[in-house]
Amino acid sequence: MTHEARLDLLGQVAVNVGLGLRPGQELVLTAPLDAVPLVRRITEHAYKAGASLVTTLLSDDQAALARYQHAPTEAFDYAPAWLFKGMAEAYSGGAARLAIGGDNPALLADQDPDKVSRANRARSVAYRPALELITNFDINWSIVSYATPAWAALMFPDLSAEAAVAKLWDAIFAASRIDRDDPVAAWAEHNAALHARTTHLNAKRYDALHFTGPGTDLRVGLSEGHLWLGGAERAKNGIVCNPNIPSEEVFTTPHLAHVDGLVRSTKPLSYGGTLIQDIAVRFQDGRIVDATASAGQSVLHKVLDTDDGARRLGEVALVPNSSPISASGLLFYNTLYDENAASHIAIGQAYRTCLEGGTTASDEELARRGANTSLIHIDWMIGSGQVDVDGVRTDGSREPVMRAGEWV
Ligand code: ZN
Ligand code: ZN
Repeated sequence: MTHEARLDLLGQVAVNVGLGLRPGQELVLTAPLDAVPLVRRITEHAYKAGASLVTTLLSDDQAALARYQHAPTEAFDYAPAWLFKGMAEAYSGGAARLAIGGDNPALLADQDPDKVSRANRARSVAYRPALELITNFDINWSIVSYATPAWAALMFPDLSAEAAVAKLWDAIFAASRIDRDDPVAAWAEHNAALHARTTHLNAKRYDALHFTGPGTDLRVGLSEGHLWLGGAERAKNGIVCNPNIPSEEVFTTPHLAHVDGLVRSTKPLSYGGTLIQDIAVRFQDGRIVDATASAGQSVLHKVLDTDDGARRLGEVALVPNSSPISASGLLFYNTLYDENAASHIAIGQAYRTCLEGGTTASDEELARRGANTSLIHIDWMIGSGQVDVDGVRTDGSREPVMRAGEWV
């Protein structure tokens, strides 16, 4: 198959599997400038599916860097709230949302960390209302990726620019199931397998998960009325969408106050252009009380100081070590890919959808049940072929869930 044919299939999968776009529905698309060829494929498929209007917002790495080099220092606490309000208005009016990822993960690596964290914080605050409509599944939404030259160069520094991009495309097409005979049928089968896992785990009603492995002995209490999710979701507008392409995880909400013990990261975490390696943290009563890293430790500490919820967990996810993304052996420096290569935890904001009745419960009710609140949500990998997971019942008895990184 030619590259153009595979790109067209990715566009089809994004619109029909990722979004499940409905006739008459509006679409808001965001993408890096390099991804225009995919933007055009998606836009065509969206109109063929009956989209009323497709609006694309492009981002440009060079323009983003120009801000750090030339904008006044005092301007980094500002974010375009007007733009995010407009997005929220579009979603409230029924528009679907598609993001094309692939931005250079190291773009801001050499910029002033104080400016980066202030800009991130201002953006998080301004974006929150629109983001909540997305994460609470008021609308159908999805994320797919584009192999940009900058991202490919970071992953394959020893290859020529052309070879690096080709290799990253192969990995993206494989992980997105574009290389199967019938990608849409392959996604239906994959969703059925993920749903079988969530049904099984939801019936177990575990009180906690216990992770053990090299440097890890961590008990993750689960929130009251936690729900396991994974794969396709039915949004509140009734449309079934696949929010992440690819996706290999099943995930739920930990209890913000019942996480104890030690845990060590099993893959580097790429955050804001910095690589944070060999993270080792100690939890006490749900809170990170000690955190070290062999590289990027100051960035890690800055992140943990964002707010009180930044030191507590908002997600725990199980991914088998044999997942196709893990089997690729690649480090993508991109959460959408790397989090689907290993079991992981996320510090920060919990997902309301991962709690029974969570999307309609009050903030106080959710906090009482153990759901965490924060401006951040950062996933980092704690699973590997050497990590075991037990399910712990309320009576303290336990059973194996994963052994040597695989489902039991
Ligand atoms: Zn996750
Ligand atoms: Zn996450």
